[in-house]
Amino acid sequence: MDFTLPEEMKMLQDMAYKFARAEIEPHSHRCDEDESYTPEIRKKAAENGLIGAWVPEEYGGAGVGFLGNTLIVEQISRVDIGIGLNVYASGFGLESLYMFGTEDQKQTYLPAFCRGETVWAGAYTEPNAGTDVAGYRTRAVKDGNDYVINGQKMFITNGTVCDYFLCQCITHPDEKRYRKFSQFIVPADSPGITRTKIRGKMGIRASDTADVAFEEVRVPADNLVGEETKGFYQLMTFFDITRIMVSAQALGLSQACLDESIKYAGERSAFGQPIGNFQLTMQKLTEMAIHVETLRNLVYKAAWSADSEKPDYMLGAMAKYHGGRTAVFCANAAVEIHGGYGYIDEYKVQKLYRDAKILEIYEGTKEAEILAIGRHLQT
Ligand SMILES: Cc1cc2nc3c(=O)[nH]c(=O)nc-3n(C[C@H](O)[C@H](O)[C@H](O)COP(=O)(O)OP(=O)(O)OC[C@H]3O[C@@H](n4cnc5c(N)ncnc54)[C@H](O)[C@@H]3O)c2cc1C
Repeated sequence: MDFTLPEEMKMLQDMAYKFARAEIEPHSHRCDEDESYTPEIRKKAAENGLIGAWVPEEYGGAGVGFLGNTLIVEQISRVDIGIGLNVYASGFGLESLYMFGTEDQKQTYLPAFCRGETVWAGAYTEPNAGTDVAGYRTRAVKDGNDYVINGQKMFITNGTVCDYFLCQCITHPDEKRYRKFSQFIVPADSPGITRTKIRGKMGIRASDTADVAFEEVRVPADNLVGEETKGFYQLMTFFDITRIMVSAQALGLSQACLDESIKYAGERSAFGQPIGNFQLTMQKLTEMAIHVETLRNLVYKAAWSADSEKPDYMLGAMAKYHGGRTAVFCANAAVEIHGGYGYIDEYKVQKLYRDAKILEIYEGTKEAEILAIGRHLQT
């Protein structure tokens, strides 16, 4: 058993972190403040092979697998998970097109995405159904050689900036709960789509989030992903992968909280000595370090498993749950260690605290992960 990363993976990590420090960090404060999206950073990331690195080389990617991609997400997330999303989630949804799409669809869409030319959005959540993924109501009705889509999607990352949606729709309303759905590629400039940016997020404010309405939106039948009635299964399999990426975001953010806290504990003095000398500060640093280390092991193992012949996706659910908890714990401890200075935006930990909470919400709330893991344990 060997816990060390191969040399090429270490180089990838190093490159991703250097890229984030040089290209993302200078814009972090401004983009958080004015909620601005950064297409030019995505393009630079693509030039450096950081977009769609998981995509196999035959489809234009770097072919570093999900483990390699996890390392990229972790390193960028040490700097900024909001701008990070504009980079590593610019193909959100494409994992399912890669797994279930036709050869023609893969050849058409994956290389352009890896070159940073197109942005994708996964349109799943609806105003009345988030955790209850079988409760979506958006309909796609077959009409000759087209499908016609009507419905509304909510909280869609990249919603106003994407070129394509992967949209989960009901095609078979009379089928059982899980066989009702099919998934479609929907060009974002199709007539009948209205996209409205959602402003005022607590954190990840540089990422684009939108409310998207589909009214009589027509897409050719060729835009169906895989087979009809398989949409729900495709979505669950997609989440199996993307949960690992969210746990990697949590890992990077938690590491940043620890780094900032160690630095500050050495610089700040109280009662004539550095606050790092106080045992209660040490306890916070120690607990953060232990949580970060256990999370790292779980995240890497989940990603390694996803690349293996027999993936154990429960590891991803565990990593997602543990990641959200760790990020929120570390961000809270980091603000406490910074005292009053942690409460103002001159210090990075204030933003880390606001950014951390989303990691317990999207791609399965922490409650949803508990239920998924708990049920799996008893099957
Ligand atoms: C910034 C941001 C970006 C997002 N990006 C995307 C995106 O790109 N694409 C997309 O499709 N969605 C996206 N989402 C949506 C996100 O995945 C959902 O918000 C999330 O899944 C929760 O759904 P909900 O908001 O409808 O909450 P609800 O499902 O209404 O849940 C509310 C509360 O009830 C709890 N709950 C619900 N059901 C149960 C149950 N059975 N047992 C116990 N507790 C339960 C939940 O855990 C939660 O605490 C995004 C959300 C945000 C905020």
